[in-house]
Amino acid sequence: MFSARTRSPPEPPARIRRTVAVSAHRILRPEAGDPEPGPSLALHGAGRPAQRSGSSGRVLVLNASYEPINVCTVRRAAVLILKERAEILEQGDWALHAENLTLARPVVIRLLSYVRIPRDAHRRKITRRAVFARDRWTCQYCGHERGNLTVDHVIPRSKGGASTWDNIVTCCAPCNRRKGDRLPRQANMVPSSKPRAPSPSIFIHVAAPSIPAAWEQYLVAA
Ligand SMILES: [Zn+2]
Repeated sequence: MFSARTRSPPEPPARIRRTVAVSAHRILRPEAGDPEPGPSLALHGAGRPAQRSGSSGRVLVLNASYEPINVCTVRRAAVLILKERAEILEQGDWALHAENLTLARPVVIRLLSYVRIPRDAHRRKITRRAVFARDRWTCQYCGHERGNLTVDHVIPRSKGGASTWDNIVTCCAPCNRRKGDRLPRQANMVPSSKPRAPSPSIFIHVAAPSIPAAWEQYLVAA
């Protein structure tokens, strides 16, 4: 699943090669309430509150292998760094200040120990946004970009088609009306690319609709 990257990242310093027992569940769990019994941080950006809202307040999380795996809040990233579970690869031009420390504002962090990601992208919830992101917001029948997009079951549900990644494509409204309840060969409408479960990076695009420039070099093409 995680193929070798063509652009070799620099070798990490030896001191961070140690193995830390940490589960994917702990690293990747939802942040609601952030019950982590870690240091109590009252982090705030120095006079740049606007940067803490929207996707600019998000941090890209890379696995130890440099594979992008998640998006988290600045606060969560700061906790991972202070607990020496992650290192900062890219930082913002302003700092976080807590009681006794100043920390560069993380933009991209890398976990110091490898977290095994289950190969379950095909089971992840199918949402319109994720389907559109996978298909690059392009109608899979006529190539029209953006506009009034819908999702289409390639094999219609009425003909036994499943609601699975390999049977749902992005479709503009006119194409959806034109195809109607017909099979691809009946309508002579075949998706331009065979639908399949998306790569994990798709969910990063969904979590952060506008991708900060500093993230781009770390996001593999979907
Ligand atoms: Zn179309």
